[in-house]
Amino acid sequence: MNKNNHFLAVGRIGQLFLLLSILMVLTIFAPSVQAENTYGTDAYYYMKYLNDTYPDREQGSEGNRQAGLWIQSQLQSMGYQVEQLVFEQDGITFRNYIAQKPGTSAQTVYIGSHYDNVPGASRGAEDNGTGVGVNLELARRFSQIPTQVTLNFCFFDGEESPTSLAGSCNYANLHVDTSTALLYINLDSVGAGDTLYAYGGDYVDGTLVRDWGYNMAQAIASRLNIPLSSMPEGVTPYPSPTRTEASDQYYFNQQGIPYVYFEANAWLQTDRTMGNPEKPYFYNSVNPAFASTGGQIIHTAFDDLSILEKILPGIMETHMAQTSQIVSQMLTQLTPDSPAAYDAPWQTSDISGSDTSDPDAAALPQTESANADSTSRPAPSAAEILTSLAASQASAENNTASTSTASSANAESDTDSSTMPTDASDSNRESSASAWAAGAAAVLLAVGAAILYRNIRHRK
Ligand SMILES: [Zn+2]
Repeated sequence: MNKNNHFLAVGRIGQLFLLLSILMVLTIFAPSVQAENTYGTDAYYYMKYLNDTYPDREQGSEGNRQAGLWIQSQLQSMGYQVEQLVFEQDGITFRNYIAQKPGTSAQTVYIGSHYDNVPGASRGAEDNGTGVGVNLELARRFSQIPTQVTLNFCFFDGEESPTSLAGSCNYANLHVDTSTALLYINLDSVGAGDTLYAYGGDYVDGTLVRDWGYNMAQAIASRLNIPLSSMPEGVTPYPSPTRTEASDQYYFNQQGIPYVYFEANAWLQTDRTMGNPEKPYFYNSVNPAFASTGGQIIHTAFDDLSILEKILPGIMETHMAQTSQIVSQMLTQLTPDSPAAYDAPWQTSDISGSDTSDPDAAALPQTESANADSTSRPAPSAAEILTSLAASQASAENNTASTSTASSANAESDTDSSTMPTDASDSNRESSASAWAAGAAAVLLAVGAAILYRNIRHRK
């Protein structure tokens, strides 16, 4: 065996190693492509990244600027040319980020979520890491899917006070062409609240007229068997269908653009005060763990992913996946003719488990104090919440039966998150298996490459 033949033989071994690694990489990608198609998986990852990396996204802050740039980089990695719209207001610099996916028609659907959050203890996992997460997932999904309508994925700054809705106000008033604007879809706090809601419409001469986008969302949710509730009438100061300055849909609606707004909330709770009569309306969950804030999660220390996953394991993943699936179906099916197709009023009585059929839900909120002391009780800090959660671990099993009005998932408040029966956790297991296989493939690749390299070097 001469030297040359010897190295040729080694070269074949190297080639075999390379072939083996390529085969392994191919088998890894088969399940991971499947995992990417699981609704909500990417959205949850994006939301967790914002919670962990940019917990302070207050308008005008460095964290806000960094979070915006991260969103821009994510959109660019999907192949979008991102438009950064910068403007000044009240001495604060705001940045909106817009990624456009052209359709076969110039008729445009705007999908919006704000990425700023409130200062203080909140990390904004729910408000609005969830909306941004779903929006980024949709942008990624539809970067590869042809659509009839043009899609504008909007990431707004400055939704929270004190310059309420600064980002979406600026965008809707100065950058939206109302002659081609078909629909605005708002994604704000779509995870941790007890129930997933859709709002949309307006009062015309005192009569509620639903926007066609709301009708379409309900029709799709119904076909998918996803419970999508509507807001009970009479729950002031946020009257159905939430036309108030509650979120970024406001200035689109002011421009006459139909909207549908997704939010997870708890409008159905019987005791609307949650023991905190000063905040009879601002509740997101009936879970007793939130009693100190009257059920409010957003804008409090409860809005922290590590805390929310302890109190409500799996809920955020479920609601984000449901929102992503409904909106994905909408964006796939939308055509310039959709307004006419969905103009007929959606019968809320057709919705299974509709809240409007609940006589209690239609009643005005109770304002009597259930516990006078609770009005002056300050909201706990994140550290206090985690300490009290740890202390309640032992007695949790006895208490779960008392949360009868909460969903079954809420009741299991201290279940280990690894037992979550969700698609997302399945795909997480898939990802860790993929990661292991990817490591093995990398070793094989390295060995193959080293042998080839030695072969080539020795030939010289
Ligand atoms: Zn919000």
